[in-house]
Amino acid sequence: MRLAKSSVRVELGKVPAIGNVETGTIIGLTISGAALCDAMAEHDVPEVDVPADCFELVAYMKRHGFIEDETGEGAAFPNRVRLHSAYLHDDDLIHLAEVMQAAGTTAGIDNVFPDGARATLRACACCGAGRVGVSIAADGAAYACHMLHYSQFCLGNAFEDSADVLRDALFRFALPTVDDIYGCKDCGKRYLCGGGCRARAYLEYGRADCRDPYCAYNREAIHQRIKTLITMTN
Ligand code: SF4
Ligand code: SF4
Repeated sequence: MRLAKSSVRVELGKVPAIGNVETGTIIGLTISGAALCDAMAEHDVPEVDVPADCFELVAYMKRHGFIEDETGEGAAFPNRVRLHSAYLHDDDLIHLAEVMQAAGTTAGIDNVFPDGARATLRACACCGAGRVGVSIAADGAAYACHMLHYSQFCLGNAFEDSADVLRDALFRFALPTVDDIYGCKDCGKRYLCGGGCRARAYLEYGRADCRDPYCAYNREAIHQRIKTLITMTN
């Protein structure tokens, strides 16, 4: 049985841990993000109901301890996959950062490691939303980022507004910098991190000026990269 499409949702305060295409790509999966969200939207999904193209992900998450394998003998919920455990905790994020750094990837924090696997660091005070790109929805609505498709972040409409109007809106658009982000102001890595992802913060807390819920990942990834740089220069 496949989960109903109506169950696909991402609620405020529930940021899917590995439930996005970016992270799926990071861990080398070819599954679709939609199918993944189907599964992540439900808690305690019977294993037989996990969408076929999510089995690979579930196996990966079990292997790495992101979810408990409660399918064995004596399990509290036999034959059920407790997908809610897939929402990553700090320890999981740190482990993920170690794995990804060992694999030599940027792990998706391009503002910090702009040159991919090359060991570099770059100073930044904010993410690149509205600066390095824009995202246009099917109805023409223009947003600063593909993860910020919410009316309060709409900059105009590509079908209706002139290029000048959109350019002005983009110019005026400003997300909080790391110095304005609650929880980041005193972080020693803030100008290498830039405060992480504003969209993730918005999804988690309903505010864009809160700390990225993947902070532990950002912090560890930067720490690992600095270690690599020091090793290379010795
Ligand atoms: S590492 Fe964490 S606390 Fe430091 S700037 Fe990044 S998100 Fe903020
Ligand atoms: S809000 Fe997040 S996804 Fe969007 S540009 Fe900033 S870091 Fe990237």
